Amino acid sequence: MTLRKTGIDKEKSAQIVLAARKDQELREQSYRGQALKLFPWLCGRCGREFTHKNLAELTVHHKNHDHDDNPADGSNWELLCLYCHDNEHQRYEEMRYGSGMTQKSTTQTATHNPFANLKDLLKK
Ligand SMILES: [Zn+2]
Ligand SMILES: [Zn+2]
Repeated sequence: MTLRKTGIDKEKSAQIVLAARKDQELREQSYRGQALKLFPWLCGRCGREFTHKNLAELTVHHKNHDHDDNPADGSNWELLCLYCHDNEHQRYEEMRYGSGMTQKSTTQTATHNPFANLKDLLKK
């Protein structure tokens, strides 16, 4: 124990982290539990079916990607297997990245491309 000096702070922050994690776990459990009650146990993308045995691989996806948005009617939830869930988030990131690019580059694209070409031409 070399970090005894910060013991209290560490303990405190550990408690906060623990509490936050517990909170999140509870929230996750509650919306997951609700979603599993609401929907049939199958992946909304690939249609894979789930039982108690492999239920851990069935995850709750938030359609609007806001994990704090948990309407009781399940309108923001979608049950997805781990793989499809990963895919879904990848697509979302790409979409977000893509739209961010177009938003920023409304003026940039016009100037960016010719410059890039110029640079390439100069290099050659
Ligand atoms: Zn799937
Ligand atoms: Zn998700």
